[in-house]
Amino acid sequence: MKLIRIVAPPLAANCYLIIDEKRAIIDVGGDPEFIIRAIRKYMDPKELEYVFLTHSHYDHASAAGFFKGIAKIAIHEDELNLMKMQSFASVFGLRFKPFDPDIVLKGGEKFELGETVLEVIHTPGHSPGSVCFYEPNKKWLFSGDTVFAYGSFGRYDLPGGNALELLKSLEMLSKLDVENLYPGHEDVVEGNARESILESLRIAKMFI
Ligand SMILES: [Zn+2]
Repeated sequence: MKLIRIVAPPLAANCYLIIDEKRAIIDVGGDPEFIIRAIRKYMDPKELEYVFLTHSHYDHASAAGFFKGIAKIAIHEDELNLMKMQSFASVFGLRFKPFDPDIVLKGGEKFELGETVLEVIHTPGHSPGSVCFYEPNKKWLFSGDTVFAYGSFGRYDLPGGNALELLKSLEMLSKLDVENLYPGHEDVVEGNARESILESLRIAKMFI
């Protein structure tokens, strides 16, 4: 399998293209032409099986509607209302094209892509339906905007955010065996990433 990080506009969201027997992308950013062009460097975008969304914020998800009919789009059920709200907003001139998800996640699902398995973990706090995707064999965590490198963590002051839920989610994630952390913005952590999550939890506890 191949894992490719694509940094997408408008706010430099990390999107992760997974090329395995089945092909998937985690988050797509806000500019459909950009992400299609970026994917095309590695594969035919029409061969994508899944578009997994960590949450509905426009910088991660507003290009997703353009994949409707190409790939199955998956998002958590608690994110649907927030997504509808955002579809009326035009941010930086980018339109959030509304779409009906093909898969409504609840947490606990497992998607087998080949040697890669993605388990869905519901981690509310940054937004109500934020999820992380955990790869249990490689111990990889795709964490969206819930937890970042260098002891950082997601905002909880945006609509639908909840500080205590975020703290609970960080506590849950800190119990996972995580080797590599692939967050929704900025640097990835390769090796001993659980330490980094514990540091985020420690700092979050000082703020929340
Ligand atoms: Zn976000």
